[in-house]
Amino acid sequence: MKNVFKKTKDKASWFLGLFVVLFLVVIARTFVGVNNHDMPVNTTNAQPVVVSDKPVVLTFSDVLRRAEDIKSISVRGDDATGVLKDGTKFSAVISYDPEFLTKLSEKGAAVSIDSSKGTLELLGTWLPIIFMLLFVLWIFRGLRGGASGGLSRTLLAQNPTKVTTGKPKTTFADVAGIDAEKQELMEIVEFLKNKDKFKALGARVPRGVLLSGEPGTGKTLLARAIAGEANVPFFATSGSDFSGIIVGLGVAKIKEMFEMAKRNAPCILFIDEIDAIGQKRSSHSFNDQDREQTLNQLLIEMDGFANETGIIVIGATNRPDMLDTALLRPGRFDRQVQIELPDLAGRDAILNLHAKKFKISPDVQLKDVARGTTGFSGADLENLLNEGALHAVRAGHKSVEQSDLDEARDKIMMGPKKNRKMRPEDIKLTAYHEAGHAFVGVMYADIVDPIHKATIVPRGHALGMVQHLPVDDKVSMTIAEVRARLAIDLAGRASEEIFFGADKITTGAESDIDMATRLARYSITTAGLSSKLGLSSIKQMSVFGTRGQLENASEQTAQMVDKEIRDWLDKAHADAVKLLTKNKKTVDKLAQELLKRETLTGDEIKEIVFGKKATEKKTTKKTVANGSKKSKKS
Ligand code: ADP
Ligand code: ZN
Repeated sequence: MKNVFKKTKDKASWFLGLFVVLFLVVIARTFVGVNNHDMPVNTTNAQPVVVSDKPVVLTFSDVLRRAEDIKSISVRGDDATGVLKDGTKFSAVISYDPEFLTKLSEKGAAVSIDSSKGTLELLGTWLPIIFMLLFVLWIFRGLRGGASGGLSRTLLAQNPTKVTTGKPKTTFADVAGIDAEKQELMEIVEFLKNKDKFKALGARVPRGVLLSGEPGTGKTLLARAIAGEANVPFFATSGSDFSGIIVGLGVAKIKEMFEMAKRNAPCILFIDEIDAIGQKRSSHSFNDQDREQTLNQLLIEMDGFANETGIIVIGATNRPDMLDTALLRPGRFDRQVQIELPDLAGRDAILNLHAKKFKISPDVQLKDVARGTTGFSGADLENLLNEGALHAVRAGHKSVEQSDLDEARDKIMMGPKKNRKMRPEDIKLTAYHEAGHAFVGVMYADIVDPIHKATIVPRGHALGMVQHLPVDDKVSMTIAEVRARLAIDLAGRASEEIFFGADKITTGAESDIDMATRLARYSITTAGLSSKLGLSSIKQMSVFGTRGQLENASEQTAQMVDKEIRDWLDKAHADAVKLLTKNKKTVDKLAQELLKRETLTGDEIKEIVFGKKATEKKTTKKTVANGSKKSKKS
């Protein structure tokens, strides 16, 4: 790959070098010329004094006047040197005039005209001009002709397309958890391997495949694996590399890239962040025009190569909606594969795949890690394992333990552990707050996700948290679960009230209250869970939506919504208070244990609440393991 650009670079720099040399020659000549004319000239008409071999300097009129005295003269352009009849050497600047020279020779002077030097002189004058003209022509050719032009070559040489290349060893075995997508792309591999078979049947194979999905979902990995499976070269570049300040460069780069691909076909040409060039064409700013040209060139190239050449262009983007529809037409990126964030099974598979690279303790349950990482991409999961390994090293563990991985996940999700010094009374309050969440959480264990752990170790903005992990990737909640979750959310504040008194409550419940309010609002206005408001959708909003103007709602309905939210939250709060007051002793014990151990696992919490035996009975009955979902309770 590198050679491609090297060749053009050599040629371009040779040309540039020549130009620079010529330029210097012109400059030098100008100065030398000036010096010539600056030579001291004897302006008086006095007789030249014969002193030595050093030539005297005569003016043109001197020469004219003393033509008879001249024995010989040799002329080179306007410069003349000669000898007078008395033997004095002279030099003069004359204006070149053949008639005058003829007259001189008639008067007996030996005239010699150095014409060879004159030609050189002439060349010296004209050559730079010719080269200037050539250079200008060259530039214009470059501007018009894109990559075929010399300028583009120079620019390409100076701004080479960043292409990584090689025959990857990556195979589909290195891609885990996205089996459906792999299956879909298998066809491409088949085509690259058996072009002729496809050709014989007249099957049209996509030239372009668009992989869309969040960053880190393995788009590059998949593209690489296709090349690896088919054992063809893989050229990777990024769309952002084609846009820049130099107009026309993108076009040149696209041409260059496809030329290279054609030379190496069959091969995979991978363009990451293709939205950088493939954005919808709309506005008309200067920059956009350039991008449009680049996009057009890409379209031209994709239409240009014959199907059987065996070039497959794979584009990747996380914004497929931003792409110009022209790109998605048949014959271009007509195959689209959406890569979703991995689900529980997918995460488990990815973790197991990457775990091979690390020394993981046999006690580690990767399944639990998978449960706790909803929303993680493949890259996030790999990062988690690596962070876990780093933590294990710091902690002096012999292998990566569950606690290391927990730590890594929390760090990735919420920022690193705060080493903030907290006042003892704040720590105590946090412990009772979290104990409140944890206790009510355990009470509703049959309805909501099981508790993974409770901690009073501050992290990010949270002073502590109780984490629930789902058993699987569930997508909806029952109304009972909503009610239970509201009670759990508000139990932190409720516990503060019960143990410290209503005048000692803190702002620490801010995010709990926020979360509860959103959940209640969503349930009532969007999910149709409120019997008072019925099934009408008052505003499209998600649990995480922001509060805005209520749409499709009269003033009266809006008031009803507000009242209903208040009712739900008040009811949840009352439930929490009731549960906590009735079990004040147990909650107190939980808080004390938290203060002692900082972090309690779900099982430990159950043990404290139900006692050891009861816990064992309960867990065997339910065979529920700890699941995962971030639901922090500060
Ligand atoms: P993208 O191109 O979608 O941003 P990458 O392909 O660059 O993502 O993924 C980055 C890394 O994350 C990969 O090199 C790989 O180690 C890991 N990874 C992502 N998805 C997967 C997966 N499905 N299976 C295995 N590893 C994955
Ligand atoms: Zn809380």
